[in-house]
Amino acid sequence: MKTFDVVVIGAGPAGYVAAIRCAQLGFATAVVDKWIGKDGKPALGGTCLNVGCIPSKALLESSEHYDQAIHKLEKHGVRFKNLSFDVPSMIERKDKIVQTLTQGVQFLFKKNKITWIPGAARLESNQQVAVTAHDGKTELVGAKHIIIATGSAPRDVPNVEINGDTIVDAAGALDFQSVPENLVVIGAGVIGLELGSVWKRLGSKVVLLEAMDTFLPAVDEQVAQAALKEFDRQGLDIRLGTRVLSGKLGKKKVSVQYQDANGGTHSFECDKVIVAVGRKPCSDHINAQGAGLLLDERGYVHVDDFCRTNLPNVYAIGDVVRGPMLAHKGQEEGVMVAERLAGEETKINYDAIPWVIYTSPEIAWVGKTERQLKQAAREYKTGVFPLSASGRAKAMEATVGLVKVIADAKTDRILGVHMFSPAASELIMEAVVSMEFAASAEDLQRVVHAHPSIAEALHEAALAVDGRPLHI
Ligand code: NAD
Repeated sequence: MKTFDVVVIGAGPAGYVAAIRCAQLGFATAVVDKWIGKDGKPALGGTCLNVGCIPSKALLESSEHYDQAIHKLEKHGVRFKNLSFDVPSMIERKDKIVQTLTQGVQFLFKKNKITWIPGAARLESNQQVAVTAHDGKTELVGAKHIIIATGSAPRDVPNVEINGDTIVDAAGALDFQSVPENLVVIGAGVIGLELGSVWKRLGSKVVLLEAMDTFLPAVDEQVAQAALKEFDRQGLDIRLGTRVLSGKLGKKKVSVQYQDANGGTHSFECDKVIVAVGRKPCSDHINAQGAGLLLDERGYVHVDDFCRTNLPNVYAIGDVVRGPMLAHKGQEEGVMVAERLAGEETKINYDAIPWVIYTSPEIAWVGKTERQLKQAAREYKTGVFPLSASGRAKAMEATVGLVKVIADAKTDRILGVHMFSPAASELIMEAVVSMEFAASAEDLQRVVHAHPSIAEALHEAALAVDGRPLHI
């Protein structure tokens, strides 16, 4: 039996980063992963690289260029004749990016002398896993430490069966070979909005059916309302408070039945349905019960703040454990576990994890929302700066959006920052660093910001916390 210091189960962002850090710290490391890529060969990178974060960003970028060209460039005096696009070229570009990046992880494994074992792993004990290779053969692998990083999978909607063609999950929606005329997205959450935006920009009529009455409840209410208004203007038909009853395949089209907020039932036909109603932890195939690994009532592997499970020497990280299902959260958990195995005291500040929704403009935030602070009866003050008052945003023709800073009423410490702006995915990092260093709104006020820049909106929002913005 081959034995390693560390065996990582899962090669998504959490698992492959954990493996790289373990190897850097001198541990003999192996990674088991069962993923098969589009080319039919084993692939590293998990959901994020193969069918998630990266390919969706590739298509968001391509579709945004087209949208800019038809709707926005005219205002800049740029005109086209015979503008066109073809979906297969976009998909091919996306696939090449995926291939380059997944091969990049292979390269990093070789560089760090990490052993890649393609196949499905089950826990035999807290120091042994059984790996079933793609040819069906099973081998036992020994480990001083095991890190479970098996990720998450899409949740289903009752009576809506994924068929991989007309009714798809997020992965299927990244592979349409033509633009569906009518597209229904079930779930107006992160994935629904991102993929709905891709196909809307390319010409689909998109209806998003959302079960909840509140739009993006995790997002600051003011930002969520501004975003809802803008997405409506962009033509995304978001119907809140709807309950999907069924999605049935007809001869060519899919018939979707749903109940609206008042109980009225509706039925309409569309070409494709994307199911994007959340994800569930992948903990059902690792023999948790047999190995005595504790799961919580929702199927997440139970861990403490340091990602230790109830079994000695067994850790779990990423989407399969509590906390947000975000690649960067999983990566940092991987680094933390590796460093703690090496005797370091690494911790994660779970209060300063950035979130991004890659719509146009982007939504990004870190820390608490006003709703959460009200619930906790914490006194706070806010400062808001609208992008309509930003010189840079005007020059970009991108004046929709706002930046909001929330600070403690007494101490002035920043408690949350919320953005709906171009490049919010990048700009939010100034807020994350500020919160990581326990900055106050005054600290941000005193930082010199480049002019003209969108980042000035964050400076102005910090000034607005004390009622002294300069440009509104
Ligand atoms: P989500 O939780 O963001 O949104 C799912 C939505 O579906 C919710 O609003 C929910 O109310 C709704 N819903 C649930 N059941 C429904 C039903 N039967 N009918 C209609 N609506 C229903 O989940 P997601 O968009 O599927 O994303 C999954 C996870 O992946 C999230 O946790 C997210 O953090 C992560 N993710 C992150 C990014 C990013 O960071 N940009 C991108 C994609 C996914």
